[in-house]
Amino acid sequence: MDERRDLLGSTAAIIAEYRSSLADEPVVTGVPYEDVVAGFDLPLRDEPVAPSVAVAELAEAARPGLVATAGPRFFGFVVGGSVDAAMCADQLASGWDQVAFNPVTSPAAAAAEQVAGDYLRELLGVAPGASVGFVTGAQGANTIALAAARHALLQRHGWDVERHGLSNAPRIRVVASEERHVTIDRSLRLLGLGTSCVTEVAADRNGAIDVDDLRSVLSACPAGAPLVVCLQAGNVNTGACDDMRAAIAVARQHDAWVHVDGAFGLWAAASPRTRALVAGVEAADSWGCDGHKWLNVPFDSAYVFCAHPAAHRAAMSFTAAYLTGQDESAARNPSDWVPESSRRARGFATWAALRQLGRTGVAELVDRCCALARRFADGLTAAGMEVRNDVVLNQVLVSVSPDARRTDRVASAIQREGVCWLGATTWRGERLLRISVSNHLTTVDDVDASIAAIVRAARTEGS
Ligand SMILES: *Cc1c(COP(=O)(O)O)cnc(C)c1O
Repeated sequence: MDERRDLLGSTAAIIAEYRSSLADEPVVTGVPYEDVVAGFDLPLRDEPVAPSVAVAELAEAARPGLVATAGPRFFGFVVGGSVDAAMCADQLASGWDQVAFNPVTSPAAAAAEQVAGDYLRELLGVAPGASVGFVTGAQGANTIALAAARHALLQRHGWDVERHGLSNAPRIRVVASEERHVTIDRSLRLLGLGTSCVTEVAADRNGAIDVDDLRSVLSACPAGAPLVVCLQAGNVNTGACDDMRAAIAVARQHDAWVHVDGAFGLWAAASPRTRALVAGVEAADSWGCDGHKWLNVPFDSAYVFCAHPAAHRAAMSFTAAYLTGQDESAARNPSDWVPESSRRARGFATWAALRQLGRTGVAELVDRCCALARRFADGLTAAGMEVRNDVVLNQVLVSVSPDARRTDRVASAIQREGVCWLGATTWRGERLLRISVSNHLTTVDDVDASIAAIVRAARTEGS
C-alpha cells in the first residue's frame, strides 16, 4: 500500500515538474530520433522488477524525446494543451481503469459522458436533441458522422447498408469544398464510398466554401440521388468558417445530409465574440469536434453529434444484450455511438475541463487565442512580413520569403532554436509559415518572444 502510494506520488511529481518547466524550456530538446530510440531500446528483461523501476526507466527514456506540445509556445498543427482539471481527470480515468462500454461496466463513465454531452451541445450550438459519441479525434468523428449519413440516405432509397453493404447500393455523392480537411477523404475510403464520390466546390480567398458554386454543383447532381454536403468550421490553414446558414439552406433544397467538420472551429460557437462565424450551424445533420484541440483536454478526445440519433445508433451499435443482462433501452450506452466496444472512460476529462472552465472560461479561452493570433499578425506585419489570411480565428499564415525552400529553412531554424515551434504550409500555391494559437497557457509575452524568434530566423535564413 505504502509502496503504491509512493509510486503514485513520485509519478505525480514527474508530471508536475514537467508541466512547471513547460514555459521556460525549449519546445524541442534537439536530441536526434535515433538516440531517443536507443534510450528506449533496453534489452527485454527475463524477470519482473518493481513497478517503480519500470516507471523510472520510462521517465528517463522519454524525457529527451518529449516535445512541449502541452506548453505555451507550440504553434504547429492545431494542438491544444490540457487544462489541469482535465489532465488530472485523465489520470483518474487510468487509475480507476473503467470500461466505458455501458452503464453496467461503469455507471460513472456513462453518466459523465451523458452530462458532458449536454454541456457540449449547449456550448457548441448543435441541435439540443442530438446524439453524441466520445471518440479519439475529428478523424473518428467525421467517419462516424458519415457512416450515419450513409445509413440514413440509403435507407431513404430502401437500402439497408448495415445488412447488404455497398455492392449494388445507390451511389452516394459527397459534395465538399476543395478546402475540406484530408480526414474527410480518409473517412470516405474507410466507409467504402471511395474518394471518387467527392465533387469539389470552390472556396473563397480565405478558404470558406463558395455558396454560389455549391448551388451550381448541387443543381448539376442527378435529382433524387443520395447527397452529402460536407461543410467546415475552421479551415486548418486560415481558420475560415463556411457560411453555415446560406450553405445549409442550399443543401436542404437538394435533401442533402449536411455534415460539419468543426474540429477546432466549432468552438467559435462558445464565445459571443466569434459565434456569428458559425451562425446557423445548429441546422446541420451531424457535427464533428475535437476536445484535444481548442478545449485543451488531453489526447485523445473528440465528439461526434448527430441530429438523427436513430441513424447514428443504427450505423454504430451492436446488439449485445447478452453482455449486459440489461434492458438496452434503459440508459445511454457509451459504446452505441462509436466504433469501439471496450473503451477508455474518455468522458471524465471533458466533464472536468468544462467544470473547471464554465461557460465564461471556455469563451475566454477562445477569445484569448483569437486575440493572440491577431497580435501575431500585427507584430509580424509591423516587422515587414505579409499576413496572407483574414485572421478570423486562431490561425495565422505569414509570408517570410517568396522562395519556398527559404521559407522551409526559416521554419526549420525556428524549430531548431526552440523558442517556439511552428510549421510551414502551402496555401494558394505559396509556401508560408503557419501559426495556430490553441493553448490556454499562451501569454502576450510568449507571442512577443515568438515573433522575435520568427524575425531572427527570417533575417538569417529568409534572404
Ligand atoms: C485537426 C482536424 C481534423 C482531424 O482531427 P484529429 O483530431 O487529428 O483526428 C479534421 N478536420 C479539421 C478541420 C481539423 O482541423
